[in-house]
Amino acid sequence: MPCHRFHAVQARIACAVAEAGRDAAAVRLLAVSKTFSAAAVRDLAACGQRAFGENYLQEALDKQAALGDVPLEWHFIGPIQSNKTRAIAGHFSWVHSIDRLKIAERLSAQRPAGLPPLQACIEVNVSGEASKGGVAPGELPALAEAISKLPGMQLRGLMAIPAPTPDVLKQRAAFRQVREQFDALRARGYVLDTLSMGMSGDLEAAILEGATIVRVGTALFGERNHLG
Ligand SMILES: *Cc1c(COP(=O)(O)O)cnc(C)c1O
Repeated sequence: MPCHRFHAVQARIACAVAEAGRDAAAVRLLAVSKTFSAAAVRDLAACGQRAFGENYLQEALDKQAALGDVPLEWHFIGPIQSNKTRAIAGHFSWVHSIDRLKIAERLSAQRPAGLPPLQACIEVNVSGEASKGGVAPGELPALAEAISKLPGMQLRGLMAIPAPTPDVLKQRAAFRQVREQFDALRARGYVLDTLSMGMSGDLEAAILEGATIVRVGTALFGERNHLG
């Protein structure tokens, strides 16, 4: 059953979408393939998965080179250093992890002219979560305003990585904070359609709170054995 994990994740998404009373097409699955091989990506692509997320640039570029014959959509979801922006701008369709203007400006300026604008999410910090990056709520409006003017980038929405917790009510409270920031930006007139939130352990809670992209690694590929 080479696609059993894929079908199980699809079923989890479908269940949560139904429970939320949302449209089945409203939630996309982003397969997070960090630490897994190009062969593992190829196998999942053969099941029908198209969008893959990577955290580490060199690892991603190596996989992309090995998979040039497969039509895939690549999303960068890891921390972004200034010296990596040119390669990210040239080799990805989406970037989920923008947390400062300087990085967004570089990505926009370095986006190759022949490609559509880079599809972008701002990573927001969920309160109570000190270890992860992301923009504080107070800084979000100004950053969204500046990014929305960049020609090489299309701002699509927000991304968040709340602290893992088995408590579903806490999961939902964190995702709700993100959605409220998203709704506030939309109320200011920004045309945003993407809430990138929810992972293997909390995708149901994220979908109930409005996620439109869930980023799933472990539930699709198995446990990651090494830190990366
Ligand atoms: C690794 C990672 C994921 C996937 O996490 P799982 O718990 O394995 O599903 C999602 N988003 C980001 C930003 C990640 O780094």
